[in-house]
Amino acid sequence: MASGQLSRSEALACLGCKHACHMMLYSATKSQLFGRIPIRHIVLMQMRFDGLLGFPGGFVNLQKETLETGLSRELWEELGVAIPISVEDHVVSCLAPALFSSTSSSCLITHLYVKRMEEEQILEVERAAASTAKDHGHEVLGMIRVPLYTIKGEGGLASFLSHSFIGNARSQLVESLLRFKLVTPDELKSALTHSMEINTQTTENLKAALTLTEKLF
Ligand code: AMP
Ligand code: MN
Repeated sequence: MASGQLSRSEALACLGCKHACHMMLYSATKSQLFGRIPIRHIVLMQMRFDGLLGFPGGFVNLQKETLETGLSRELWEELGVAIPISVEDHVVSCLAPALFSSTSSSCLITHLYVKRMEEEQILEVERAAASTAKDHGHEVLGMIRVPLYTIKGEGGLASFLSHSFIGNARSQLVESLLRFKLVTPDELKSALTHSMEINTQTTENLKAALTLTEKLF
């Protein structure tokens, strides 16, 4: 098991820890970008209230609910649809490094669940998340799709991965894309290498933007 990773039962034995469950929903699609670039899969993430990218879900209270019923409650609030979740949907649990644990007093274990749906069900989730979901416009600023393709060298997956993610969400995404064979290891290696180059350019762009604040408007 990769460092920091725990089995579901090892994770549940950590009674003093906080537990957060999140879900990656995805479907296959035959649609094409610009009518020629296969989109292959729709993978859902969200823009969170804190400006970071993450998966839908949140903290679960093990005194009152199981990991799965807690995740289901969080998804209802954030997506506005009831999604059946079973133990079989659990993919990986991870002890968050202290750096990522927002609560300094206790440790945090993150659990990722993944569910494959039909394309029509994903469209329904997107519609509900932007209309009936309680958290829309508050904890969730909007659902987004992960581009899995690469265009013009670094557009698409590489650019997406260079954004800022909450906690270990970037690693959860990369691991799930590999595990469910939504992209190849070579595609991911190339995208992540480009992401690092993009981040170097981002620092320069930020410096340039900072100089704008010194101008008198
Ligand atoms: P939330 O209620 O969605 O903010 O989730 C509870 C906590 O889980 C957050 O404060 C994050 O520190 C942490 N977290 C870890 N991994 C993720 C993830 N992949 N997506 C969202 N939150 C995460
Ligand atoms: Mn949340």
